[in-house]
Amino acid sequence: MKIITSIFDLNKEIKDYKNVGFVPTMGGIHAGHKSLIKASRNKKRKTIVSIFVNPTQFNKKDDFKKYPRNLKKDIYILKKLKVEYLFTPNTREIYKFKAKKFKLKKKDKILCAKFRSGHFEGVLNVMNRLMTIIKSKDLYMGEKDYQQLYLIKKFLSKKFKVRINACPTIRINRNIALSTRNKLLKKDSLKKASKIASYLKNIKYKSKSQGHKLALSLHTYKKKLEKKYNIKVDYLEFRDEKNLKLSNFKNKYRLFVAYNIDNVRLIDNY
Ligand code: AMP
Repeated sequence: MKIITSIFDLNKEIKDYKNVGFVPTMGGIHAGHKSLIKASRNKKRKTIVSIFVNPTQFNKKDDFKKYPRNLKKDIYILKKLKVEYLFTPNTREIYKFKAKKFKLKKKDKILCAKFRSGHFEGVLNVMNRLMTIIKSKDLYMGEKDYQQLYLIKKFLSKKFKVRINACPTIRINRNIALSTRNKLLKKDSLKKASKIASYLKNIKYKSKSQGHKLALSLHTYKKKLEKKYNIKVDYLEFRDEKNLKLSNFKNKYRLFVAYNIDNVRLIDNY
């Protein structure tokens, strides 16, 4: 695996992106990331993984500081997976050139955009930069971060004429979604998170027969969850898969959740 830290070296190394798939990450490589790499491998001959913990998408300094990082271990895993290229730039390298700034409109300020001010502006900013540098036409992203996927499709797919391959969420025992942030959880909280996942999966299941009725009582479920597990739920909402509007239960929809446990913010959708 070639480990590349500068744009200059990257351009020297990769002249033709036709057969290269791109998997952007913030590291802490787990089975969710691996599934994206495998999806790329199945379609392309080569894969470039980026690891960059982007400061501009963290709306809290402390969250950025404590985000789990372990580049050595990541390199070990990626080498074992036979990934061809790893791009690990520093912040100066990514932000050294001028690029467009993004601003979300009011109608996009839902779910995480409502609770993490500036987060998606930061995500769009860094993805715009990464995609300017890495000219792959195939991007692999997870449905775990559904709103991120939605906004990148909306704002960047046309500009870069890139195909965004959405990959399903990988879970531990079909339950809690894998996430680098899980590493910050105490054992006890991980167990709680797993119970919360079962609870939410059950609500989604019930919604198939009693959608509207259930949607009206979601605030009660939210309160129950908060009390039972001593967590703070930011949102619990059924939204349309295509446009992220509140679901009318006629089209495909998902149950979206974000909550704080142990001072760690987890998101998921079912
Ligand atoms: P992150 O390193 O958390 O920024 O994630 C990098 C990419 O991996 C994003 O496209 C995520 O949506 C995706 N990803 C993270 N967790 C999972 C998961 N459990 N299953 C599938 N994809 C995931």
